Amino acid sequence: MSIKEIKAKSILRKHKKIDSWFISLYGMNFYRGCTHNCVYCDGRAEGYYVDGEFGKDVVVKVNAIELLKGELDPKRKRIPLKKCFMMPGGGVSDSYQPVEKKYELTRKALEIINEYNFPVHMLTKSTLIKRDTDILKKINEKQRTIVSFSFSSIDDKISAVFEPGVPSPTERLNTLAFFKSEGITCGMFLLPVIPFITDTPKLIEEAIIKAKEINLDFIIFGGMTLKDGKQKNYFFNMLEKNHPELITEYQNIYKGSKWGEATKEYYNLLYMTFHQIAKKYKIPTRIPPDLYNDILIENDLVIVILEQIDYFLKSEGKTSPYGYAAYSISKLKQPLSTMKRELQNTKGVGRTTERIILEILETGSSSYYKKLLC
Ligand code: SF4
Repeated sequence: MSIKEIKAKSILRKHKKIDSWFISLYGMNFYRGCTHNCVYCDGRAEGYYVDGEFGKDVVVKVNAIELLKGELDPKRKRIPLKKCFMMPGGGVSDSYQPVEKKYELTRKALEIINEYNFPVHMLTKSTLIKRDTDILKKINEKQRTIVSFSFSSIDDKISAVFEPGVPSPTERLNTLAFFKSEGITCGMFLLPVIPFITDTPKLIEEAIIKAKEINLDFIIFGGMTLKDGKQKNYFFNMLEKNHPELITEYQNIYKGSKWGEATKEYYNLLYMTFHQIAKKYKIPTRIPPDLYNDILIENDLVIVILEQIDYFLKSEGKTSPYGYAAYSISKLKQPLSTMKRELQNTKGVGRTTERIILEILETGSSSYYKKLLC
């Protein structure tokens, strides 16, 4: 393993539109590369420009905290940052990978997030997050904290092959149970499930049962992507060693899409399977609005709920106008409550969408959405 220290130019990453999976507009990475070395990690793909050998080499942004302080300080902002969950970490690194023990950049960033009164959503695979229980609880008291763990399944043996550098699913589940007992909102990202290995109804159901058992607040599901190039080559090498019988099946579903997606037929069946099982156990499959409708500004709240409705309808194989309406609303400069009579002038907003928007503005949620949620 090698560590390279660098000085970054900026830390805060601002999305153009609120992300309705994480309820966040702002991400930040203190590290590039991740020694957790999950076999399927898309941080390995060329498009992310991670230096060195992924899984072994890590770049540390040693000035991250100094930069973040300036970027979050409201006194230095002409336009204040919008309220939403701050998301440390991302696709190319886990904020609690081993190098964090030495540099403590995630911990220091949480202290700044707390100082400037933002809620936080942590997504990790590492039990090192327990070290920061004190600060996560402080944020939760003032704002809100969500702790999420990602899993490709809850099978310890499969995880040891595909996620060689992280604590076992059993340890991750125990850590989630611990945070729940501390009064913190917790979720499971069952993502990515690995085709023909962890995507079976049996393994999906086992994960959902566990999530229910420890009273998780939501479970978010997703399939795997494999981009041509380093990511796919690395994964296929491992597949040849451990599951050579699956190579042809993989070739049939990963046909070189630009974003590494599997075929529509595969994803449709997969999402349908997941939603059928999740419905049986009545667990929310998106972060429920009660956890953020007192945080977001009204336009962002509407965008998130419309996008989530869009997701649910599409996962049932239906068409939906709600994603496009959400996109149009993300371009608006004025608050929706000031244009209640002209909502239908917004592209993609018809009568039904208008009714949903008005209900969200009035109540912070939508009855139609709640029916779809679990
Ligand atoms: S923990 Fe996340 S970022 Fe790290 S290797 Fe695994 S998938 Fe990639």
